[in-house]
Amino acid sequence: MRNHHSRTARKKASTAELLLAWYDANRRELVWRAKPGEAADPYRVWLSEIMLQQTTVAAVTPYYRAFLKRWPDVKRLARASLDEVCAAWAGLGYYSRARNLWRAARMIATQQGGVFPTTAGDLRELPGVGAYTAAAIAAIAFDERVAAMDANAERVIARLFAIEEALPKAKPKLTELATKLVPKNRPGDFAQALMDLGSAVCLSKRPRCGDCPLSAGCRARQFGIAETLPRKAAKRPRPLKRGAAFVAVDRVGAVYLVRRPENGLLGGMLQPPLGEWGAAFPARAAALEEAPFTGNWLKKPGLVRHGFTHFELEMEVYVANFIRRPNGEGMWLSAPDLAGAALPTVMRKTLAHALDEDVPLFKIS
Ligand code: SF4
Repeated sequence: MRNHHSRTARKKASTAELLLAWYDANRRELVWRAKPGEAADPYRVWLSEIMLQQTTVAAVTPYYRAFLKRWPDVKRLARASLDEVCAAWAGLGYYSRARNLWRAARMIATQQGGVFPTTAGDLRELPGVGAYTAAAIAAIAFDERVAAMDANAERVIARLFAIEEALPKAKPKLTELATKLVPKNRPGDFAQALMDLGSAVCLSKRPRCGDCPLSAGCRARQFGIAETLPRKAAKRPRPLKRGAAFVAVDRVGAVYLVRRPENGLLGGMLQPPLGEWGAAFPARAAALEEAPFTGNWLKKPGLVRHGFTHFELEMEVYVANFIRRPNGEGMWLSAPDLAGAALPTVMRKTLAHALDEDVPLFKIS
């Protein structure tokens, strides 16, 4: 039936009907997704949506399984300590999500008796839940008629209606157009169908229009501009920051770590002591003024690189061995403890570089 206008069709199927029929035959199996006909659990939808923010399905899947096994519902998650949650999150990136996840769990457990809010408007009050996430939970878990606009949904809608205005300015218009398409029945499946179509068929490069259930009504396809949409406002290049990291090692191989302040970048996570970040690497003498202890610091050849949302970081790594542990406010952790510690990826890379280990040694198991 694809690409086929039948003059005899009694009633033209709506966009939602076409999309849902496609979804029924092609839906992705995802660990957090309810089976067809099964009610979706808001806790699972919420947990998966927070994890999926700026992160791929493949990266999220093992973390999602581990979280669900350890904390099968929101009340149990609320009883965990922030440190336990951050440690379990380590490696997934964007750590403010872990703190917000924990804070939101506490709010739901203490103020709402462990029951999730049911509308997108109320869900948005939770820490870490933005417009998209609120709409996704409301649609998928509570069948509210709202459009959940992630990048996949935005792309499909921009193409369907040939919207040439650039993102992010076009967002409200795309949301409005999508909202009008949401059917009374199955708004949750509609939201997931739009995401699945975007990830499997309406690809950003080379959309597979020949396999698309919406191709007959797609204006971007008709105009031959699908691949150029959605337009995006030019991004500013990310600035580069540089600095030094100090890895102190004791005679049994334990390393010295300090905790970052609760708020801000990588808040509450552990790291080896770092110097200030600037446009250039500090010269050796200036760098060593920032070292946590006096010692025989040797600069490792090479660099550690890491991309954050708003900047790129490059670090030179200084290593010193100590027979006796110098006194400091931080803590000494040995290799087995490092595996379960709240260490973000960039700091795992730094330790791996310092100790000539492969990063996997420090990965979560
Ligand atoms: Fe995307 Fe092509 Fe389908 Fe239009 S016809 S929605 S461009 S895959």
